[in-house]
Amino acid sequence: MNKEQTRPGESWVNKEQARPGRPRPDIAALSAYVPGRSAAEVRRRYGLDDVVKLASNENPFGPSPRAVAAATAALAASNRYPDGASTALRARLAAVYRLAPANVIVGNGSDEIILLLALAYLRPSETAVMAAPPYAIHRSAVVIAGGVVAGVALKDHVHDLDAMATAVGGGAKLVFVANPHNPTGTHLDREALRRFAARIPAHTLLVVDEAYHDYVDDAVRHTARDLLGDYPNVVTLRTFSKAHGLAGLRAGYALAHEDVVSTLDRIRPPFDLNIAAQAAALAALDDVAHVRHVTRENRAGRARLMVIARRHGLAMVPSETNFVLMQVGDSAALTEALMARGVIVRPGENLGMPGWIRVSVGAREDLDRFEEAMERVDSR
Ligand code: PLP
Repeated sequence: MNKEQTRPGESWVNKEQARPGRPRPDIAALSAYVPGRSAAEVRRRYGLDDVVKLASNENPFGPSPRAVAAATAALAASNRYPDGASTALRARLAAVYRLAPANVIVGNGSDEIILLLALAYLRPSETAVMAAPPYAIHRSAVVIAGGVVAGVALKDHVHDLDAMATAVGGGAKLVFVANPHNPTGTHLDREALRRFAARIPAHTLLVVDEAYHDYVDDAVRHTARDLLGDYPNVVTLRTFSKAHGLAGLRAGYALAHEDVVSTLDRIRPPFDLNIAAQAAALAALDDVAHVRHVTRENRAGRARLMVIARRHGLAMVPSETNFVLMQVGDSAALTEALMARGVIVRPGENLGMPGWIRVSVGAREDLDRFEEAMERVDSR
């Protein structure tokens, strides 16, 4: 077959030829990340006009208009490479957190920083400890780096910090704690996290992933950044993807000891944060009112999701995030039935929580659709 004979969408590569190179066997054995179904896919499959996606913990309330304006203005300079050091954004983040710019690294989403941490701090066969089930990218980053995942079962859906400290022992090089956790939404309090940090050896990095930090109720919110002074091995991860509503632009950051930052700086792609993302993130940081609006709406939406679940007699995990985990029995069947009615939720099977569904907080009209679809499914 040659290139001219192929049909649109068909590969012109001759399948009979020898395979192009040999990937590492452990990489070849991996499966690609399965994202939540896209609204377009579900629209096509069920012939629906209007589909609501509550499957990827996105922010349904939109980005800050100031961030959109800044990103749009930045596009005029798209012919130039971005500032590879994200100087302005790093400096602003440093000021916000009362740190030096040398304590801040930004990445193409916090997912990129998670991968860089695993690549830099794990030698092949070295161990990283995390919850089971973990946030999926914590696990895949370790596997990509050739490391070994030591998963410690959650206890009542919460990190079992005692068991995790034991698993770290003297040997693990990395520990991941998502606070709040994804996929459960549970939150560890300040004292529990501080006691845990005290039990982690200095040569082990404790990575506290605070992607959902802004959604935590004011009364209990705290940050691992405050541990840095006493525990220089603590890395705090944050993202602009959630409360700031910039998931599509990809911007996240870490607050860490300057040695960690300079290590990651050595291996990261030099222009990993594009100009629009840098400009938007900078503007979003200053739009405190927008984050306040988003978190207020989220709190109301989360409460409403819980009311709906309760009405259907479903058990839930208390959540400090923008999603709620609900115990539904046959989660694959319910996910499919909801999807046929234009509502996409995440089945727990993909998240290590079979029998549960994870429902992201939507805008009011999205939750109307979820409520209606649940009624219809229940009365079948
Ligand atoms: N960390 C956790 C715990 C998450 O749940 C997510 C996204 O869902 C991320 C990190 C990813 O953030 P980013 O979009 O910055 O890569």
